[in-house]
Amino acid sequence: MSRIYLSAPHLGTNEERFVQEAFSTNWVSTVGPNIEAFERSFSELMGGLPCVALSSGTAAIHLGLKLLGVGADDDVICSTLTFAASANPIVYQNARPVFVDSDRASWNLDPDLLAETLEQRARRGKLPKAVVVVHLYGQSADLDRIEAACQRYDVPILEDAAEALGTHYHGEQVGKRAPLSMFSFNGNKIITTSGGGMLVTRERAWADKARFWSTQSREPVAWYEHRDIGFNYRMSNVLAGIGRGQLEVLEERVAARRANAFRYREAFADLAGIELMPQAPYGRHTNWLSVFLLDEVAFGATRDDLLSALAAEDIEARPVWKPLHAQPVFASCERVGGGVAEDLFARGICLPSSSNMTAEEQSRVIEVVRRVARNARSASSVGGTEGAWTASVS
Ligand SMILES: *Cc1c(COP(=O)(O)O)cnc(C)c1O
Repeated sequence: MSRIYLSAPHLGTNEERFVQEAFSTNWVSTVGPNIEAFERSFSELMGGLPCVALSSGTAAIHLGLKLLGVGADDDVICSTLTFAASANPIVYQNARPVFVDSDRASWNLDPDLLAETLEQRARRGKLPKAVVVVHLYGQSADLDRIEAACQRYDVPILEDAAEALGTHYHGEQVGKRAPLSMFSFNGNKIITTSGGGMLVTRERAWADKARFWSTQSREPVAWYEHRDIGFNYRMSNVLAGIGRGQLEVLEERVAARRANAFRYREAFADLAGIELMPQAPYGRHTNWLSVFLLDEVAFGATRDDLLSALAAEDIEARPVWKPLHAQPVFASCERVGGGVAEDLFARGICLPSSSNMTAEEQSRVIEVVRRVARNARSASSVGGTEGAWTASVS
């Protein structure tokens, strides 16, 4: 039996052809037709907004924050329940992350807590320079309420939609409303370019600036002239070819990821203490990862027991993101709340979610989860009720 991965790349049919074209035409660096076509197709998905293909999602967040003017000693609010890459670029800009807790309805940035925080900071004259809103695991944050809070104090939003390609909010792809948003094409995301990212902006001039910074801020003259510090952040034309092919199959990938999550939910429906993460009614949750929350008393086993049982069967599963406010590297950062994110981290588990996971593989995962629950139940009837035990041995 082969290993079952958490979230593996899943190539379609045309990726290889686009990559081959890059080779045969010798466009193998950071300019070429694949980059232009990938940006154009992505832009169509984003309602025509300008898009800049970059070497990673992290690079996209970095340039996004720079475009918002985030600099030394600024505060930037960020969801605490996320991957470290949401906040690392804040520190690259010598600014300070302020971590805000999640709500239980979406697991994303709590709009009420955000509104309170902004109000208090406005009174102290210490508004943040920006808010990084993460759409976690393929579920949109509650953008209407988050935007309302930010607009009151004129604080711009950067949407971290790294995990949210295909995610809808009120019927629309996320990432189109904020001044800036970004996506990731890392190997484990819903589509991949092996590694890469996309910056999306509402301002054409910002896209031009980001493209300029991403190619070493080289002035358009014959010699190497620099008036600005640059970065080597542009996507390669080879990798953009993979992206072009992957974009063609995005809707199929979304359907497969959702089907995985709902098949798990169905298979666990009769088990106590294991629940799929909330599916907020305002959008389409891609369930990029199938994430479940355990109640160890009702389920009869802890999240870590379940992780070990899966690992023993060569099945890759993971805890929910460890909140950033609890990360040693961010220990000195300010935080607002954090109890919800800590609870989700303690009890949440991401099950194998690849769009190319076979039904047989998913059945193997389901069987392990059901066995852990069954053993827990029989163990508790042995230890708990003597009557049941004597009845079953006699
Ligand atoms: C993957 C991810 C990133 C970073 O994207 P890379 O392309 O890996 O640099 C940022 N934020 C979140 C929430 C992510 O999941």
